[in-house]
Amino acid sequence: MTASIPFIDLKAQYARLKPAIAARIQRVLEHGQFILGPEVKELEAALARIAGCREAIGVASGTDALRMVLMAEQIGRGDAVFLPGFTFTATAEVVIAVGATPVFVDVAEASYNLDPAALARAIDDTRRRGALKPRAVMAVDLYGLPADYGALDAVCRAQDLFLFADAAQSFGAHRGNRAVGSLAPVTATSFYPAKPLGAYGDGGALFTDDAARAEILRSIRAHGAGGAQYDIVRLGTNGRLDTLQAAILLAKLEVFADELAARERVAQSYDRRLAGHVTLPPREAGSTSAWAQYGIRVANRDRVAARLKAQGIPTAIHYPLPLHLQPAFRQYGSGEGQLPVSEAVARTILSLPMHPYLDEPTVARIADAVVAATHA
Ligand SMILES: *Cc1c(COP(=O)(O)O)cnc(C)c1O
Repeated sequence: MTASIPFIDLKAQYARLKPAIAARIQRVLEHGQFILGPEVKELEAALARIAGCREAIGVASGTDALRMVLMAEQIGRGDAVFLPGFTFTATAEVVIAVGATPVFVDVAEASYNLDPAALARAIDDTRRRGALKPRAVMAVDLYGLPADYGALDAVCRAQDLFLFADAAQSFGAHRGNRAVGSLAPVTATSFYPAKPLGAYGDGGALFTDDAARAEILRSIRAHGAGGAQYDIVRLGTNGRLDTLQAAILLAKLEVFADELAARERVAQSYDRRLAGHVTLPPREAGSTSAWAQYGIRVANRDRVAARLKAQGIPTAIHYPLPLHLQPAFRQYGSGEGQLPVSEAVARTILSLPMHPYLDEPTVARIADAVVAATHA
């Protein structure tokens, strides 16, 4: 029996960064500013540089980041928010949390991201029905590949809708010469430990070039405070990024570019070894991915996963059901057949181990096992 392979190896990264992380944490323990301490500001400046935008706002999680965007736009009861049917549940739950209604739209076969033509149809359809007011579009950069913001922006401008990005999986990626964080008017990301840039707990960030929006988001992050702490000018929440998490993220940022390059090398090696045997993950000319996941498609998915597991190779399914078929969200869709691409991807997708510390012999061992399992 060969050794088990971790799906995501946070220990290898920790071994590399241990002294830097310890020093960063120690400094916070000594200055004692656990809420919005200096590390939060320092991290925000560093994140804004990577994202190529003016403002970065550290928040408590990716989910909070998305919910706060909806609060800032005053989206609520009677409003429709359009989002892909194939994504993590947080994308939809925040829409319902603010009282608005999610409208699930199919993804494109070539990217697994929001299909701009399907989006335009869904908006027209919602207007025709008349029950809801189309207000916003939440694009998702699934597995780390940025959505087609040029096309989505054109649809949103024509229809007068607000476009924002759920970039929980794509921080560090690019589309053309622009980084995630500067592709949409507002972008939200997550620092959940398993994301490409992960904290040691929950965390997230918001990005925008719009100083007025940034001020509103900072106010919402701190209970809707105005100029003074107890001057409450709007409905807010407790949505702050912890100073300790900011300190840890600052240490991890030192190696982030290197880790993104390593993820790309792993993806290219998988691509080379698996081409012709399985459907490879989507790539787009001119875009880079943050490779939050490396998802292949295979017809006999469950059998392949079981064979890999028997050899100590873990896999995961992101995600087994599109959201319009989830029990909690079924009432917002029209059931099986509504989103054919989302449904087909959910039936066949399989995520292989992906992290920057996956060495070439391990990638080879995994790929060989996948090839053998698909032909068995
Ligand atoms: C992880 C994730 C979120 C939520 O982020 P948290 O920090 O875990 O709250 C939202 N959307 C997508 C697509 C995600 O992958």
